[in-house]
Amino acid sequence: MGYKGVDTTELIMDNLQLSNDDLLGGEPGKGFYQMMDGVEVGRVNVAARACGLAIRAFELGIEYAQMRETFGKPISEHQAVSFRLADMGTKVEAAHQMMVMAAKLKDSGARNDLESGMAKYLASEYCKEVVEDSFRIHGGYGYSKEYEIERLYREAPMLLIGEGTADIQRMIIGRRLLEDYKIKK
Ligand SMILES: Cc1cc2nc3c(=O)[nH]c(=O)nc-3n(C[C@H](O)[C@H](O)[C@H](O)COP(=O)(O)OP(=O)(O)OC[C@H]3O[C@@H](n4cnc5c(N)ncnc54)[C@H](O)[C@@H]3O)c2cc1C
Repeated sequence: MGYKGVDTTELIMDNLQLSNDDLLGGEPGKGFYQMMDGVEVGRVNVAARACGLAIRAFELGIEYAQMRETFGKPISEHQAVSFRLADMGTKVEAAHQMMVMAAKLKDSGARNDLESGMAKYLASEYCKEVVEDSFRIHGGYGYSKEYEIERLYREAPMLLIGEGTADIQRMIIGRRLLEDYKIKK
């Protein structure tokens, strides 16, 4: 559907023999932690990509809404469209702030699985919604390859899946919140 900048291919390992020198990360027994550290960066990365996509979709939508006229005025002056733009702008801002907060925490070296999971979950869900709203604002043109929104519409779903699906983020967030807010019995 999208994500054309990176090739996706099959990798087959059949009777592959490796020596101790081939150990990734260098330290035996730490593989899971090294992998999880990478996943946290990846989640902030996906959140940032979702913010980029959403901002672009918002820019395209708000521009088109001021150009296209129906019933004697730009569609941006129809309340249904301006409310849609208000929702889109609010989601773009909220996702961006959450992503920056998670990225700063990651840079600080502190534990950030909760925050990066929340940022990835929120930014990718909002991205899908903002892209869908921009697509609707474009009317029939949104479905045409001549308009950029068609590509964004195909790119957005990938962010709901990569670096852990939305369901997996909700699982992580739920578990971590129950750790933080555990009641004393
Ligand atoms: C082109 C492409 C590139 C990709 N690149 C990357 C990448 O670079 N990095 C990366 O991390 N991922 C990447 N992914 C995503 C990754 O490959 C997997 O698709 C993703 O981790 C989901 O796993 P799955 O496809 O096996 O789905 P499944 O695990 O089979 O999930 C199917 C459905 O079941 C749900 N589900 C599964 N288990 C549970 C559970 N325990 N509780 C609740 N719901 C559950 C899922 O949320 C989903 O809705 C890429 C995917 C594609 C298509």
